[in-house]
Amino acid sequence: MTDAKYIWLLIVLVMALVFVLALLVGRRRRASAPVDWTARYQRARGLLIPYGIMFVLMTVTAFAEHDKSWFKKLFSPVVLGLGWGICYYQCVRIRRKMRAEPGYEEPPQIKHPLPAFFWQAILILLPVTLMAGFGFWAILRERSAVEHEAQQRAREILQVIPGDFGRIVANQLTDIEYWKSGWMNQVEFGVASWPDKKVRRQILEDTNQAHIVAGNLSALRGVFPDWSNGVPPVASFILETNGQAAWQQPFLPQPPSWRLEMNEEQRAAWEALTTADRADESAASISILLDTFLHTRPPPEACANAVFISTRAKLRDTPATNAVVKLLQSGRAGESETGVKLSSLALAAALERSRECGPAEMLWDALNREARDGGLLTARLLDEAGKLVEHDATLTESVAAMRLVLAERELRGELAESIRQRVQLTSTLTTNLWLDAIGQHWLCLVRPNEIRSMTSVSNRTVTTKSYCPEVHCTPKSAVTRAFADALTAAKVSLPKYFSLTLRLEGESVPLPPPWGGVSGGKNTGDVLAEQNFQMYQPAVLQERNPDGSPGSDIHFDAMPGHPQFSLQIRLTNRSLLYAKQRQLQFVFGALIAASAVAALIGFIAAYRAFRREQQLGEMKSNFVSSVSHELRAPIASVRLMAENLERGKISGAEKQDEYFRFIVQECRRLSSLIENVLDFSRIEQGRKQYEFEPTDLVALTQTTVKLMEPYAAERGVRLELKHPTSNIQHPTSTAAPKSDEGGNIELNVDGRAIQQALVNLIDNAIKHSAKGETVTVGLEIKNGGGAPASSTARTVGGDRRAVPEAGAPIVSMSVADHGPGIPAAEQEKIFERFYRLGSELRRETPGVGIGLSVVKHIVEAHGGRVVVQSEPGKGSRFTIELPVKNEN
Ligand code: ADP
Repeated sequence: MTDAKYIWLLIVLVMALVFVLALLVGRRRRASAPVDWTARYQRARGLLIPYGIMFVLMTVTAFAEHDKSWFKKLFSPVVLGLGWGICYYQCVRIRRKMRAEPGYEEPPQIKHPLPAFFWQAILILLPVTLMAGFGFWAILRERSAVEHEAQQRAREILQVIPGDFGRIVANQLTDIEYWKSGWMNQVEFGVASWPDKKVRRQILEDTNQAHIVAGNLSALRGVFPDWSNGVPPVASFILETNGQAAWQQPFLPQPPSWRLEMNEEQRAAWEALTTADRADESAASISILLDTFLHTRPPPEACANAVFISTRAKLRDTPATNAVVKLLQSGRAGESETGVKLSSLALAAALERSRECGPAEMLWDALNREARDGGLLTARLLDEAGKLVEHDATLTESVAAMRLVLAERELRGELAESIRQRVQLTSTLTTNLWLDAIGQHWLCLVRPNEIRSMTSVSNRTVTTKSYCPEVHCTPKSAVTRAFADALTAAKVSLPKYFSLTLRLEGESVPLPPPWGGVSGGKNTGDVLAEQNFQMYQPAVLQERNPDGSPGSDIHFDAMPGHPQFSLQIRLTNRSLLYAKQRQLQFVFGALIAASAVAALIGFIAAYRAFRREQQLGEMKSNFVSSVSHELRAPIASVRLMAENLERGKISGAEKQDEYFRFIVQECRRLSSLIENVLDFSRIEQGRKQYEFEPTDLVALTQTTVKLMEPYAAERGVRLELKHPTSNIQHPTSTAAPKSDEGGNIELNVDGRAIQQALVNLIDNAIKHSAKGETVTVGLEIKNGGGAPASSTARTVGGDRRAVPEAGAPIVSMSVADHGPGIPAAEQEKIFERFYRLGSELRRETPGVGIGLSVVKHIVEAHGGRVVVQSEPGKGSRFTIELPVKNEN
């Protein structure tokens, strides 16, 4: 068995042990105490319910758990079931004993208000329960409604994106190239040109042009924030069939074919010529060697090379200015045997000679051409040129511009090379693609393009077509930037919980914030809506002026390849989406809970009021039957006696006197009862009025005692009046009641009412006293204000403001008996209207249950209070305390 099972078993055993111990201890304790079967029955019955619940719960959990142990499944329910069985058996046994007890009365069947109240409760609680249930259901539904709404919103956002969004993006992309070409134009044809050139001056001195270039530059800086100097990383070029960018020399020279085409004789003559050149032999001997070589009829390119070598040798002794011009003219076309262009070699020689005469326009044009075409030696030649013009700021700037032109050419070359390598792996370049080159990720847009070339074959011109696609390469960062700018231009706005993702030519491209969302454009979150677009651009583009106003139309290449892209709206921040709904949910939930609690409180209050009314109704009906009962018996006996007297059945004056006394006595009691009932009714209706006048309380008490004596005698009870005393130490105050020598205590009260209160108290005391007992009526003046110092004393009612403070004199009228007493728990209740001690059926004493409530009202009306001191079995003492008011 596992540990959990041991614990389970332990709990069950401990419960069984507690049960057995409780039985044993209970048995022992019961043996020593008198058995109260009613209390025991209630205790045993109280155990049945929790044991029953435990039994059901343990059985359910034992079978609900995926545990194959039948021991556990059966053991705990069996033990608990046994416990419950023993409990039930005990209950039945004790109930039998309880019923067999002498004097046992079946408790009255209380009419449960529940069936009557049931429908009212349903009417109160059902709507609230339904409302709460519906409310929570609506809250849950609201959640899916919010998601649905978000989807709708996402679709709407995409619909708001204009249909020509593809064109806006295309414009953004082509703009980058446009800005770059504008700036490069100025660099290449302006700054890089010879200072005296007309074109250069035109370009650099045109202020409008300068504005445009400045605008282009700042736009480029915006697209490429990291770009400091060099060439902006964006390029477009035509790819030739061999994979190279069109009209440009390959960077890495290749050995020319003419070298291999030469025969032995030609090769020997060539070697002799080049060896003499390297050995710096005289121009004359080189010239002879040239003739020898030309005599062998070598291929034309070889001839051009040989002529160049001879010319260069001849020009060694020519003045520098002439030599430079001639050198630059000599090597226009062709390649040397190492594959280097002859023009580069001629330029190198010209640069060397220019050290003697300084730079000239022709040299500068040749340098510009060299930079534009590019080649293995170009960078080196530009270095040489830089050295040559290091003291001339304009020309130094010009060399820097040529370096930019060269870099531009290199960029195109490298991109072309990367595409070539990539395409070799696949096929001819026909579709747009993403490319990794020069440490960047490039979007290459391809426009299919055909180039016609014309060659003449045997005096006929033959046109050949070759597929040479035009490629536009833009780095990914610039692409995302273009999209972000296009989205801003299209006035797209996104709520914070959405993000926009882009899929362009099969690749997902993260967009910068705020479009990319919190996850930095990563494709996280569910796609709520998606839309496909196509980039396109008309061939004509409107130029913008520096101030942003539309300018003249410029003709531009149409957007190649019509790249496809799609935009997705994703839900990236769910909690943000639900934030508002959660707030509503909270408020709504709180309202539902509050209304449910309010309904419950209302229900409980209604139930209590209902119960109270029910009890009051029962009490009232008891009251009516009690009053009828109280009236019927004396009236019957009075009637009987009066009839006997009338018929002369009673002989003897003494007997007749006794009858008359009895009749008078009964009539007094009846009028006292009726007075009580009438007073009670006046009190209930708020019509009871008191007439205060100076009254001698001693005389009033004596009269009352006298009045009650015949009744006491009839019940065999001794009624005793204790002589009025005064405990006041110094009755100097004018407020003190007058207590003359004869024992008079005069107070401003309603004498009839106070007498009625006293009669009620004496009547109760006589009623609850056994034959031969004494009821003592006392009257005293004392320093009052507080309840008597008895632990069982209970003060009832009383106007606290009217009750004199401790030390202030009070008149206290008490009635004490030695009757059964009143339990502490009941001492307050007996002053309630209609309340009578014990069950209606078991009551032996007559009464209707309003006497004490009338006493309480009268005393309170006098600003006093009633105090009860009682202990079951030891009698009761009711005291009326009346304050002595200052009448002056
Ligand atoms: P009732 O007409 O029943 O006497 P009261 O209002 O005068 O009505 O008294 C209320 C209850 O208080 C009585 O039913 C009785 O049980 C209890 N009670 C009043 N006075 C005494 C007393 N002196 N001794 C014991 N019980 C008393």
